[in-house]
Amino acid sequence: MADDPNCLFCRIVHGEIPAKVVAQTPECIAFRDIDPRAPTHVVIIPRDHIPTLSDVRDPLVVGRMTMLAAEIAKSEGIADSGYRTVINTNADGGQTVFHVHMHLLGGRHFTWPPG
Ligand code: 5GP
Ligand code: ZN
Repeated sequence: MADDPNCLFCRIVHGEIPAKVVAQTPECIAFRDIDPRAPTHVVIIPRDHIPTLSDVRDPLVVGRMTMLAAEIAKSEGIADSGYRTVINTNADGGQTVFHVHMHLLGGRHFTWPPG
């Protein structure tokens, strides 16, 4: 899918909006959330503009985000204590930025079910 010049996360990919980048691969970028909900809160995105999880056609897109989240959890020192990976989709899922992304949250205990 073509980049969307109005998309916040496409603008982060292109360096037009600064972000605290924690990891980069040829296909993905990971950066710290601007409004962290946990001591570690990283957002992992594909470089390609895909609005929601429902629009993903290549399973590697999800696989790459997930494996990068697991790697970052190790480098952030939260792999053993535990962490949560979340993809919010559309209104009821709480999605606010329509460029598919995975949240990596850790450094504290999370309750279940989520709110
Ligand atoms: P969503 O609600 O769509 O699942 O997650 C979007 C996330 O992007 C939110 O956690 C929000 O804090 C984060 N966010 C929104 N704008 C920016 C920004 O300009 N920079 C960074 N680093 N994160 C952002
Ligand atoms: Zn985008």
